[in-house]
Amino acid sequence: MSRLLTFCLMVLTLVSCNQKGPKVPVYAWTGGPGDASDQELLAKFNDLKDKGVDGLMYSGGHDPETYKRVGALVKEAGMEFHTWIPTMVQGENPKIDQSLYAINGQGESALDKPAYVDHYKFLCPNKEGTYTFLADLYGSVADVKEVDGIHLDFIRFPDVILARGLWDKYGLVMDREYPEYDYCYCDKCTSDFKEQTGIAIKEVEDPSQVQEWKQFRYDLITNLVNRLSKVVHDKGKVINAAVFPGPSIAKKLVRQEWDQWDLDAIYPMNYNDFYLEGPAWVATMTKEEVAAVNGKKPIYSGLFICPKPKNKSNEKDPENHGLLPSEIGTAIRGSMENGASGICLFTPGRMTPEHWEAFEKAIYTDYSDKK
Ligand SMILES: [Zn+2]
Repeated sequence: MSRLLTFCLMVLTLVSCNQKGPKVPVYAWTGGPGDASDQELLAKFNDLKDKGVDGLMYSGGHDPETYKRVGALVKEAGMEFHTWIPTMVQGENPKIDQSLYAINGQGESALDKPAYVDHYKFLCPNKEGTYTFLADLYGSVADVKEVDGIHLDFIRFPDVILARGLWDKYGLVMDREYPEYDYCYCDKCTSDFKEQTGIAIKEVEDPSQVQEWKQFRYDLITNLVNRLSKVVHDKGKVINAAVFPGPSIAKKLVRQEWDQWDLDAIYPMNYNDFYLEGPAWVATMTKEEVAAVNGKKPIYSGLFICPKPKNKSNEKDPENHGLLPSEIGTAIRGSMENGASGICLFTPGRMTPEHWEAFEKAIYTDYSDKK
């Protein structure tokens, strides 16, 4: 009897392995834990693992204890655990001096007068206090045993140009850089730039035409990332980031020259609907992204999921757009055939049963011969 049972189990295992074959590595952006009990969290994580998710980018605030608790449960479910904590966007905090916030081209602080939305309180990447705050924050989280990696987000300047799909939402035509969305013109940034290049940027009529000024700000973010990378690596953990696509789009919109960053992996947000593009555009962007890092770093293609597919055509807010169940396969195929190491879902909570069905087919497909 027991021999028969063993035999049956072996057959079942072989059949299920054969059916599933090679699998696309999948990450997902998610967060919590709110009031959820350990049992509830574990059930959720087990479910995601069963659906094919291999690792979470988990947003749970700043407290290392939260990541210790949640991380243990994510590991128990058999997934990687990366902590997803915004970088340059920081709300008011007794640990952050008000002078650390970025200043726009009109001399206004992002603390008092944030661009677009109330939470756009960006710090200046050129202030030493910004670095020490972030090094302490990420260092204390990287110290947590259960944490595999630190995931940076909002590691950039405010959007000096908004993605095309957002213009209507904010009633803006962003055909060029405007001073109220252009950062950082604090005394330290402008004087350091003057010292480096001899250019007094505040006296320039159209700063957007000064290539050195663009490069100066790409470099400020790059230097900050590379310093934080050292902090995290010294603790034996990996570090990665969510970035804008490209980096052509990333540089133009938010001043991220991420191909120069010392990270272990890159998660470009290839959110086609924000750029008024269809799912095939994900392939084009992934190709650029893989080439930008010479195929030397893993690129995980970030996919934005439509939470209510039936409403998409009537929905005005781009935040509610995203990939339909009929589009997710195209986006995954386009990512994998162009050299992505895997994909990352924004978010599993937005996935409908129809999404999961199409997703399962797409992740258990072998794309290796098309690369
Ligand atoms: Zn500054």
